[in-house]
Amino acid sequence: MTDPLSHSYYAATAHDWRPRAFEGDLACDVAVIGGGFTGLSAALACAERGFSVILFEAEHIGFGASGRNGGQLVPGLRWTASELEAEFGRERADALFDLCWRDNRVKARIAQHAIACDLKAGHLEAAWTHKDFDAMRREADYLATRFGYPSDIVAKAAMGAHIASPLYHGGIYDPRGGHFHPLNYAIGLAKAAETAGVRIVEGWRVEGLLDFDPGELLTRDASVEARYFINATDSWIGDLEPDFGRYTVPIMNYNIATAPLANADELLPTDAAVADSRFVLNYFRLSADKRLIFGGGERHSQTPPRDIAAFVRPFMAQVFPQIAGARIDYGWGGAVAVTMNRLPHIGRRGNIFYAHGFSGHGALVTTLAGELIAEAMAGTAERFDVLASLPSRPFPGGEWLRRPLATLGLLWYALRDRLG
Ligand SMILES: Cc1cc2nc3c(=O)[nH]c(=O)nc-3n(C[C@H](O)[C@H](O)[C@H](O)COP(=O)(O)OP(=O)(O)OC[C@H]3O[C@@H](n4cnc5c(N)ncnc54)[C@H](O)[C@@H]3O)c2cc1C
Repeated sequence: MTDPLSHSYYAATAHDWRPRAFEGDLACDVAVIGGGFTGLSAALACAERGFSVILFEAEHIGFGASGRNGGQLVPGLRWTASELEAEFGRERADALFDLCWRDNRVKARIAQHAIACDLKAGHLEAAWTHKDFDAMRREADYLATRFGYPSDIVAKAAMGAHIASPLYHGGIYDPRGGHFHPLNYAIGLAKAAETAGVRIVEGWRVEGLLDFDPGELLTRDASVEARYFINATDSWIGDLEPDFGRYTVPIMNYNIATAPLANADELLPTDAAVADSRFVLNYFRLSADKRLIFGGGERHSQTPPRDIAAFVRPFMAQVFPQIAGARIDYGWGGAVAVTMNRLPHIGRRGNIFYAHGFSGHGALVTTLAGELIAEAMAGTAERFDVLASLPSRPFPGGEWLRRPLATLGLLWYALRDRLG
C-alpha cells in the first residue's frame, strides 16, 4: 500500500530490518495480529513463556501508530492518578499506579535487548493556563504524598530552564518520563521476538478469525490454526472484528521534523519531551540529530491536509516564534485510536485477547499490555485483570453516526481550549 503519510523522519532513519524467511507449518499456539508495540510485546512475551508464536502484520513492522508517534514516554494513563482513585477506589488505584506509573517495561526491554532507539530521560507537562498549572500542582503533591512519587513543580519564572517559550504558566517535570525513536524501538522488539522464536510475516493481512477451539485465522492465501489469538490492530480493529471497532474512533494527528537546528539546545535545554495541557495538545522534543519533532493539530477527516508542514507549522510557531521559518524536512501523520473515556480497551473474549484504544497515551502502556496478555494466557491473570477491568463503552450511534457524534464531542473540547 502506498501511504501518503509515511514521509516520516522515523522511516528515513530506521534501522535495517527484514523478517526471516517464513518456515514451518501454518499452525501455532498463538497467532498475533498486528506488528506494533502491543503485538510485538505480546509475541515476545508469549515466546519467552514457551508458546509457539506467529505474528502477522498487514504492511510492515511499525506501520501503524507505533512507527509514527511523537515518541513521548509519559508514565500513567490519560486519567490522572487522583481521578482513577476517585472513580475506582484506593485498592484499584494502587494496582493501576504500580503497573502504569512505577513499572517502566519499555525501559526494561530497551536495556534487556540493547535496543538502540535514542532513549532520553525527562518529560515536562506544560500548563497552557493558570488554572491548568494549579491542577497540575495539586496532582504532583498528591502523587508525592500518596504514592511517594515526587516530580519537580516548575514555576512560570523557572520554565526557561526547560523550554525557551514564553507561552506556558508553569509545568511538572517528571524525570521518569522521556522520549525515544518509536520505529527503532518497534524494530528492536521485532528482532528480540525473532531471537526468542517468534515467526514474523509482513505483508499478510488477516481477513477473518474463527474463534472455536482451536481457532482458525484467515488470510487471502492461507488459513492458520492457533489455540489463541491476539488482536493488536488498534485503529483497524473494527476491520477484523466490527464489534470491537465500536469502542474506538480514529483521530488523525500530524507531526513534523525540522532540519537540524543550530539552536536546538537553547529551545529545550534539558532535552525533555514536552506536552502541553491543551485538549488538542502540542507535543514536541528533539531528535538525536537535533531536529525539533513537533506534533500539533488534529483532524477528524481521514483525508490528510495537502501540505502537512503548512498545517503543523503555525502550532510550532506559536510555541517557538524564534524558529517560525525553520526548514521542515518531514511531515507525516497517523490515526490515534480514541475510546469514549480515554482509557484503553483491553480484555479477552473466548480465545481472543485484545488491547486497543490507548487514546494517544500508548507508547509506554502498550509494551506492558502485551506482556500482561502473555501472563494471562499462561494462567496468571491477576495483573491483566487490573487493566481489563477498566470500564469501556462503545461509542453511540451505530456504524454511520458513531464518527460524527464523536467528532462533535471532541470539537467541543477543542473549543474550550480556545476559550481558555
Ligand atoms: C501521530 C501519533 C502520535 C502519537 N504520539 C504519541 C506519543 O507521543 N506518546 C504516546 O504515548 N502515544 C502516542 N501515540 C499513540 C501510540 O502511538 C499508540 O497508542 C500505540 O503505538 C498503539 O500501538 P499498537 O501496537 O496497539 O497499534 P499500532 O502501532 O497501530 O499497530 C497495529 C498494527 O496492526 C496492523 N494491522 C491492522 N489490521 C491488520 C490485519 N487485518 N492483519 C494484519 N495486520 C493488521 C497495522 O498495519 C499496524 O501495524 C501517538 C499516535 C499517533 C498516531
